[in-house]
Amino acid sequence: DPRIDGIKTKIRVVPNFPKPGIMFQDITTLLLDPKAFKDTVDLFVERYKGKNISVVAGIEARGFIFGPPIALAIGAKFVPLRKPKKLPGEVISEEYTLEYGSDRLEMHVGAVNKGERALVVDDLIATGGTLCAAMNLLAERAGAEIVECACLIELPELKGRDRLHGKPLHVLVEYH
Ligand code: 5GP
Repeated sequence: DPRIDGIKTKIRVVPNFPKPGIMFQDITTLLLDPKAFKDTVDLFVERYKGKNISVVAGIEARGFIFGPPIALAIGAKFVPLRKPKKLPGEVISEEYTLEYGSDRLEMHVGAVNKGERALVVDDLIATGGTLCAAMNLLAERAGAEIVECACLIELPELKGRDRLHGKPLHVLVEYH
């Protein structure tokens, strides 16, 4: 799709952020360009419209930027998957490991019902740990059916795809 190249050029790579040696993929520069931002959302909407998806789950924080416009356009509800202690209601949570230590994603009990068809949205997949925790919350804990995971960017060298239990992952841009 010719729109992909335009999207790619708007993602800024910031060396040594947040730590030395990390090449950080910064999507805030994409958001500054209304055409590239809209093309990004449109590409996902075109893929998921009519697929009977009733829930779009977005991962804090950048899944909160791309998830809601996709949810509205395909007529699905939006469910935020949040970092610990942000949600006021009763939650279920899943821990995942980071390079150093661990973190957790939480979801409100009752936000997703058994058998609902879910799309998981984040900006980027690196090791896949975050998406894996999100999928566990939705599928194993809440009983949803994961239709697909959708990310703007994949770092394929980190093999995050292999941690998704064979569930499909759709990305727009690979960064090698
Ligand atoms: P993973 O769990 O796959 O190793 O890391 C993915 C998570 O970390 C995502 O939630 C993503 O937002 C964040 N992340 C890791 N590296 C980057 C990066 O270079 N750019 C951005 N925008 N997010 C990143």
